[in-house]
Amino acid sequence: MKLLILASILVCSTAHVVAEVVPKPEILPRSAWEALPEDNRLEVLKPNGKVKHISVHHTAVDKLRGNGTPEAELRIIQRGHRDENHWGDIAYHHLIAPDGRIFAGRSTKHAPNSGTRYQSESQWREAPIFTEEEVARDPQNLGVGGTKSLPESATGPRPGHVAGHVTICLLGNFMEAEPTDAAKQSFIQLAAYLLQEHQLTISDLWLHREVAATLCPGNQFYAWLREYPQGERYSLGPGLKSVQALLER
Ligand SMILES: [Zn+2]
Repeated sequence: MKLLILASILVCSTAHVVAEVVPKPEILPRSAWEALPEDNRLEVLKPNGKVKHISVHHTAVDKLRGNGTPEAELRIIQRGHRDENHWGDIAYHHLIAPDGRIFAGRSTKHAPNSGTRYQSESQWREAPIFTEEEVARDPQNLGVGGTKSLPESATGPRPGHVAGHVTICLLGNFMEAEPTDAAKQSFIQLAAYLLQEHQLTISDLWLHREVAATLCPGNQFYAWLREYPQGERYSLGPGLKSVQALLER
């Protein structure tokens, strides 16, 4: 009898812990932005077995295009990724608008796409892709979003095969400007939720520029996420400290 009571107390206390998890933020469905269906080129996408990382991006586009709404911008991005890049669908899994709304992009059943090759973890931890000087100066020769040619030593997955990553992309160009407060708040909630959902830690959250030759997600957003270049390269800046705080609550 005593054992039974003890067991029920343990179950109750476990349930109590579960009740305090990071709640799932509202994610608007694809129908909210009138997405085109995933097309028959989906065979180029790898099924996403185990999620190992959450990776963070910006669209590197200054203003919302079309009629100036996030929905129109998403449709434009999807058409580009489908019809010009031949990626079968919008590249990203989750997209955050300047007004803080979170939209569903590509199904998380499918690997995301990327125009860049990702390095292995040991490669990027050992040798930064960009020097501090390159990050600090206006990257006028690095192209839209700050891409530059890949080091010869890169052996990571080729562009288009970024299996194992669930992606978050903020709409906007954050080389010069920071995301809005609403977008930042949604990012914190979504990032913490996704890390929890996939049983990952804050160190499994990767920022695109750390693993590939790009300045994505932009210098200003990056500086909010990491204390860099002022601080340690892989430190937690204010943004990632907030994500961590939600996970540890
Ligand atoms: Zn990116």
